[in-house]
Amino acid sequence: MVYDYSMIDELKQKIADSESIVFFGGAGVSTESGIPDFRSEAGLYAAMKRYYARPEELLSHSFFMRHADIFFAYYRENLVHQGAKPNAAHLALARLEAAGKLKAVVTQNIDGLHQSAGSKNVLELHGSVHKNYCMNCKKRYTLEFVMAALVPKCECGGIVRPDVVLYEEALDTGLMIKAQEYIHAADLVIVGGTSLSVYPAAGLLAGYAGELVLINKSSTPYDDYASMVFREPIGEVLGKVVA
Ligand code: ZN
Repeated sequence: MVYDYSMIDELKQKIADSESIVFFGGAGVSTESGIPDFRSEAGLYAAMKRYYARPEELLSHSFFMRHADIFFAYYRENLVHQGAKPNAAHLALARLEAAGKLKAVVTQNIDGLHQSAGSKNVLELHGSVHKNYCMNCKKRYTLEFVMAALVPKCECGGIVRPDVVLYEEALDTGLMIKAQEYIHAADLVIVGGTSLSVYPAAGLLAGYAGELVLINKSSTPYDDYASMVFREPIGEVLGKVVA
């Protein structure tokens, strides 16, 4: 791949000039760590072939309530990737935060890789596989606990579920407001690995008038508003920018 190094230098300069950066990321950030997107065509095919259902159904609240065993089988196979390691994008963002430049990472991913890379202020809009709780008594459990049983049960008898937002469930309003506040207070928002086409991603940037940089393999509805658009893999771009 041929790199336009003038663009890398330009983004470096924008970061140097910025005092408050927010990163907003989607599935594309995780795919570069070898975590496949279950919403992709390959993900859909795999789910239909093995479970005769679409990922959106398997991961819905009503399906979970009816068939927790099948939900957990699909969930463990397709949403939990315990061997995955942070990639160059995660590491670059952690360094920007440590340098005082980056104020928050807002992510739609549930894998916890930003924290593994060292990021502290991570707003996980869809929750995390590392957080789990008993639906009855709210006691907290580890991912390892959830991975060890067909349907994980609390000592009180309640089902232990992942603290991730399933289809048909509402996002945490407080967290969404916090994310929006960070974005509106930023002077530079870098968006990566999301096409910004679906809720809640699309809404988060509404009303943001500051500088916007997009790093995504396909086009987004915000391309015309961005001051820079990169089509290269996000790990390669951020890895070069934060060298
Ligand atoms: Zn319990």
